[in-house]
Amino acid sequence: MAAGEAHTLSVDEVASALTTAPGRGLGDAEAAERLAASGPNSLAVTGGPGVVRRLIGQLHNPLIYVLLVAAAVSAALGEGVDAVVIGGVVVVNMLVGYVQESRAQRALEALSRIVPTETTVVRAGVARRLPVEDLVPGDLVRLTAGDRVPADGRIADARLLEADESALTGESEPAAKHTDRLPSGTLLADRANMLYSGTVVARGSGELLVTATGTRTQLGEIQRLVAATEPEATPLTRKLARFARWLTLAIVVVAALTFGVGLARGLPVADMFTAAVALAVGAIPEGLPAAVSIVLAIGVVRMSRRKAVVRHLPAVETLGSTTVICTDKTGTLTENRMTVTALAAGSRGPVLGVREAGAAQDEALRQTLLAGVLCNDAEPRGTADGRRVAAGDPTETALHRSAAGAGLDPVALRDRHLRWDVLPFTSERRLMGTVHTGNVGYVKGAVEEVLARCGSELDARGLRAPVDRVSARHLHGALVDRGLRVLAFARIEPGTGSVAERIERGDLTLLGFQAMQDPPREDAAAAVRACHDAGIEVKMITGDHAGTARSVGAAVSVVEAGPGIPVLTGADLERLHGDRLDAAVGRTALFARVSPEQKLRLVRSLLRQGHVVAMTGDGVNDAPALRQADIGVAMGRGGTDAARQAADMVLVDDRFASIESAVEEGRGVFDNLRKFLAWTLPTNVGEGLVVVAAVLAGVGLPILPVQILWINMTTAVLLGLTMAFEPREPGIMSRPPRPPRQPLLTAGLLRRICLVSALLLGAAFLTYEWELGAGASPDEARTSAVAVFVAVQIAYLISCRTLDATVLTTRLGRNPVLVPSVAAMVGLQLLFTYLPGMNVLFGTAPIGIAAWLRALGIAALAFAVVEADKLLWAVLRRR
Ligand code: ATP
Repeated sequence: MAAGEAHTLSVDEVASALTTAPGRGLGDAEAAERLAASGPNSLAVTGGPGVVRRLIGQLHNPLIYVLLVAAAVSAALGEGVDAVVIGGVVVVNMLVGYVQESRAQRALEALSRIVPTETTVVRAGVARRLPVEDLVPGDLVRLTAGDRVPADGRIADARLLEADESALTGESEPAAKHTDRLPSGTLLADRANMLYSGTVVARGSGELLVTATGTRTQLGEIQRLVAATEPEATPLTRKLARFARWLTLAIVVVAALTFGVGLARGLPVADMFTAAVALAVGAIPEGLPAAVSIVLAIGVVRMSRRKAVVRHLPAVETLGSTTVICTDKTGTLTENRMTVTALAAGSRGPVLGVREAGAAQDEALRQTLLAGVLCNDAEPRGTADGRRVAAGDPTETALHRSAAGAGLDPVALRDRHLRWDVLPFTSERRLMGTVHTGNVGYVKGAVEEVLARCGSELDARGLRAPVDRVSARHLHGALVDRGLRVLAFARIEPGTGSVAERIERGDLTLLGFQAMQDPPREDAAAAVRACHDAGIEVKMITGDHAGTARSVGAAVSVVEAGPGIPVLTGADLERLHGDRLDAAVGRTALFARVSPEQKLRLVRSLLRQGHVVAMTGDGVNDAPALRQADIGVAMGRGGTDAARQAADMVLVDDRFASIESAVEEGRGVFDNLRKFLAWTLPTNVGEGLVVVAAVLAGVGLPILPVQILWINMTTAVLLGLTMAFEPREPGIMSRPPRPPRQPLLTAGLLRRICLVSALLLGAAFLTYEWELGAGASPDEARTSAVAVFVAVQIAYLISCRTLDATVLTTRLGRNPVLVPSVAAMVGLQLLFTYLPGMNVLFGTAPIGIAAWLRALGIAALAFAVVEADKLLWAVLRRR
């Protein structure tokens, strides 16, 4: 079979072309052999462009152009040393840019491998879960709604199967699928009997005969065509890039003016030219957007250590300003380990344990247990320490276990009552039905849904009597108040029509209830309380009954236990509109019987109210709500691939506590970004100001252009980025969320930037003049001025570890890179001062110990000024 013509063949023809048995799949040995031949089913992570190309790519930067021109002009003017230094700066700049870029890239690449994906494969007639990478051509894969299609293949079986192929074709409406052959020449988008890797099963279920894996799939084909993707721009990096562009323009204008003023004053052209270049290079924050990406990438790595994998970089910055978290109950706040603890027959009761129910001579109870086994998609199989174990949805496996616990044999019952027809469970319908041998069917589902369709109920002897709805509801209420998830079971009497029609006809016979417990996660309550302390609202959204929601909500501290806890239901959400909806949503923390579409309404209402919303979801239909929320959160273990693809963040362990950790990290990342900016901008501005001031004042430059280049190259790399590694400040989760619209550079921060710029300017100028006055040579005086400049930068770096409180009294964790970086900077500064080669290159001269002590003193003074400024503003703010 030639690649690309599977759609023209029948299923049997494809199977024989792939030498596999339809229905049984490949044998294990055969599969292993094929895997060795075809390689793993993954898209090789392309390393992107090579080293040389990435290095050269760094040259594509306006700043570098300026530097290259400056080097050429300097050389032409006979300033050989300057030309060499500027050339050196170009090389250093290139290397730094390269290292930064690779680092961010590596951090992000590592993440794509954290969430493992599995798929259901039939091998030697047995269905099992296998890593997607192990798939080979000829494998038989079973897919249901929400699954990501793991490889290309011919559809061998389709039940109401529809696929969302937007990833491949751009078509947003799901495409209906079937098994019939198609004429050759059918376009890819119209091949309704094929499924393609990377698309998602939107509805129904089916089986797929794998025809192509890994890079040989259509997706692999596309990836090969598309060049390595650019790292994602976030709103923040975009804003900063815009800011940096404006700043650059302003600086270029100032540099040109400085050049002109210098010339008018009769200063040498060459000197003025290098001064203008130094001003431009010193003051332009060229590394800003890249550095911000690095701070974010480091945040991503930190979050992944705490089990939250960020899929889109913007989520890192948004997380820190989250004001409300909407979370599922099952699996996120609770363990999703369901155990049936109570059963009741019809509306009669009494409420019994599993063993008691098994021992009771009650036909309704017996059929309740039987319905639990038959109207069930989980697989009862195998034995573990003598007991049957089951694989599938926890709600359904719990029913197999309860039947086994009551003395029934689920495997034998399944074999005896073969399934003819099924109405699958969906979160909207909240019930499921099946029909079996003998034309008898069963329904299970949410109590309201089932009860509404029952005309009669079964008594202990198995006879039908009119249903007593009032007693049934009473019984239901008692079970729900215990925090249990209650399912009602009913029988579909023999009749004609599809199972859906027979259920809707409404003459079901109520059999009984099974109620299951799902213990709250151990750390959930503490994490919810931590969110409350941090000013973040937590809203619990569940498909379960309001009573169950109240009880579980209180157990995990979403609401305080007590009578009359308000709950909004999905129906309420539908009924309310506009302001009334918003007001009700704002007041309420518990939402019950909510369907995925209603979740979307809920998110929209919260967004309208100005909230920054994080929302969890696991089902295929949750995808729209996940996309709409500011941060869509999907589950790494439970949940569907569809939800994961729509999410911004995936929780590796499904725990609510991991969302709370991610928010905490998000706040830390944002703090570090501000600290980085607070440090970087004044040093840039200060450097520029020194040049401008000297030229305008018509005095000698206290710091030479090449020295400015030196400061900029060394401190920006060694000192500034240490702020990305700052530990979180204490109390980070006891302050309210950052207002979403608050700018990055607040008025307070701008004021601090001005203050420190002025300090740097003054320190360099005064030192230079004082040293000259004290009899130092101009070279010595400049070397001292540079030493002071760097010393103040280091002192200010320490001060930046906290922006609002004084760093002296705040108890901070250790920053692992701070001391080594400062030590390295001091070492470089010593070389700069004492190495003869450096003296020639940079026009420096050795200085005495007294000059160093003066530098230290001035740095201490500058530090004191900044800390005093913090205290002063803290006092003023309190007023
Ligand atoms: P949560 O929103 O708390 O995570 P959930 O999403 O698991 O809960 P759904 O799965 O939508 O909630 O279930 C809603 C209701 O449907 C349940 O309360 C239960 O009554 C019923 N139900 C759940 N699973 C099944 C099933 N497999 N078959 C029939 N009915 C079910």
